[in-house]
Amino acid sequence: MIVNKMSSVPQPAYEIERLHALQSYNILDTLSEREFDDLTELSSIICNTPIALVSLVDQNRQWFKSRKGLDVTETHRDHSFCAHAIQNPYELMEIEDAKQDERFMHNPLVTGKPYITFYAGVPLINEEGFPIGSLCVIDSVTRKLTEAQRSALKIMAKQVMDKMELRRKMTLLEKSDKLNAALLERSVLGEMRSHMLIQQAPIAMALFRGEDFYVEAINPPMLKFLGQDADILHQPILSVIPAFDKQEAYTIMLKIYKTGETIYVKEQEVKSTDKNTENTSYYNFTFCPLIENEKITGVINMAIDVTEQVVARKRVEEVSNDLRASYIKLEQSEQKQSSAIEQAKLGTYTIDGFTGKMWASARLKEIFGYRDEEEMTYQSVIDQVSVDYRDQVIRGAESVIKKDLVFDMEYTIKKRNDGLTRWVKSTGKHYKTEAEPYGHFSGTILDITEEKEDNIRKDDFIGMVSHELKTPLTSLKGFIQLLQLRTKTIDDLLTKNILDKADKQITKMTRMINGFLNVSRLESGKIHIEKELFDISVLISEIEDDTILNADGHTVIFDPVETAWVNADKDKIGQVINNFISNSIKYSPMGTIVRISCVSDEHGSVVSVRDEGMGIEASDIPHLFERYYRVEKHNTKSIAGFGIGLYLCAEIMKRHNGQIWVESEIKQGSVFHFSLPAAQPPH
Ligand code: ADP
Repeated sequence: MIVNKMSSVPQPAYEIERLHALQSYNILDTLSEREFDDLTELSSIICNTPIALVSLVDQNRQWFKSRKGLDVTETHRDHSFCAHAIQNPYELMEIEDAKQDERFMHNPLVTGKPYITFYAGVPLINEEGFPIGSLCVIDSVTRKLTEAQRSALKIMAKQVMDKMELRRKMTLLEKSDKLNAALLERSVLGEMRSHMLIQQAPIAMALFRGEDFYVEAINPPMLKFLGQDADILHQPILSVIPAFDKQEAYTIMLKIYKTGETIYVKEQEVKSTDKNTENTSYYNFTFCPLIENEKITGVINMAIDVTEQVVARKRVEEVSNDLRASYIKLEQSEQKQSSAIEQAKLGTYTIDGFTGKMWASARLKEIFGYRDEEEMTYQSVIDQVSVDYRDQVIRGAESVIKKDLVFDMEYTIKKRNDGLTRWVKSTGKHYKTEAEPYGHFSGTILDITEEKEDNIRKDDFIGMVSHELKTPLTSLKGFIQLLQLRTKTIDDLLTKNILDKADKQITKMTRMINGFLNVSRLESGKIHIEKELFDISVLISEIEDDTILNADGHTVIFDPVETAWVNADKDKIGQVINNFISNSIKYSPMGTIVRISCVSDEHGSVVSVRDEGMGIEASDIPHLFERYYRVEKHNTKSIAGFGIGLYLCAEIMKRHNGQIWVESEIKQGSVFHFSLPAAQPPH
């Protein structure tokens, strides 16, 4: 995307070519036309909005070819909704409430007349694929279009574009034909003989008389075109331009002299040299007979310079061909890779950023329930995503494109053929190069239903077992505490020690079981966060004693611990801190230091736990917070664990809008951090 210095609205790539394309319609600042007005009228009726517009996005303005319910004929591009709509040429842009949308809330058309609140616009894509404007409907109240209205608006936009294409084709023809017709009429009337018309014609013109075509009349533009001066007047053309007989024009003139027909030559390429540089121009030629007393007495030749239009059109053709070529190249390379990928049961796709066309591998079609010959489109895929995930998927894909991130999500879809629900894991990235400024979005989709269902069954089982284990464990803890009380009065150190150890083991086991129970609760959406206002430094001091008791030969330092007010679930945050600490102790050798700190500023609080342990490889870091993930190294294998602690910590943070991350260096140690948004301390 490029940003025009003149305008604060981002502009589509290929802006110059897009503007050329728009100009090729010669439509800007023309009068209103019934055909377009009918379509805006119809759009406003169907969508039930007071305003409907055909808006064309020019360099610095949007100009309305047709407008229903609006007085102004144009607005600055900076205030244009349509300039935003054409950013994504393949989608209908719908804004239910512009006052809530950052891009438009300060727009004078929103804050003032016509008080735009609702906007829906379909980009007008021309034959070469350039978005030149949009057909839009506007209202001053919050609205939402129905699916049927959206489809109707899209169809109407296509109609607008068809009319514009037709208009463009007609304009060029009309331009020369009208002039020809007028001139022909006059020539027949004999007016030509005065030569006045030729002299004053705005286009290059000449009258060649007799069978040797002597130059009877010629105007300055034609002299210039032929590279001659007025000396050629009254001379046979071949005596002044001997090579003329090799030219197509000469052959045509001879033919006309015989047949009396009028011949048009369209967009003829003409090369000329000017100060050693070769120029290419394009002309539309008309050759018509001069008929006097029913006899052909000469040929009138006209030439219209259409270089500008032809160059603009050729450029846009080139651009769209380039894009088409790069798309095909991409498709071929995808196909080459695909045999390996298909073996891995991975479905792959590519969506062209310019055309919006989707290419899907055979495996992907299978996953989504399409037959091989059926076409998959982005919209059809989105429609198959379960309602619970659909918005998330759309927003995810948009933000991945905007922020250049990797898309990675798990969601359910409904298969097209049998309607069954399947779980998929979908990844994707937006690739962009200079040669392909719109880029393409491609990635993989894997059917993970079996795995998911296995996990769900596993979770259910773990949940059930953990629940069952908790009851006897609670009793066991009660019995031990009872025994501990009784040993207070007797002098049996060994029994006391054994009971303390038993109590510690039970606490450990309870923590573990609670962890499992939490995982299964989490999966079934039953984990509850009960927020309260508290100071993390107080929570840390409560944890301190317990930590020192379980330090297992480590030096544990709590410094610095600053006051940090947060609004969070105290137990769950305690669980995260405890988990960080017990991991640091578990994964670092005895005699090393574990340091816990808590720092706070107006944005939030960060708690960090640093150890001098084995550290974590960079390749493991992205997975640490995944469920059941453990680093498979010989030195960690002997350390007990299930790989759920950090997963739970991450889930707890997610539910608090907090963040969790780690910095680590192999053999040097790790620092685990989490941060929470700041809360106002109580008065
Ligand atoms: P568990 O410790 O039960 O395996 P966690 O989810 O708490 O599960 O941790 C996941 C994995 O992260 C651990 O198996 C370990 O490989 C790694 N890990 C966690 N904390 C540390 C640490 N402080 N130093 C080194 N590795 C760690």
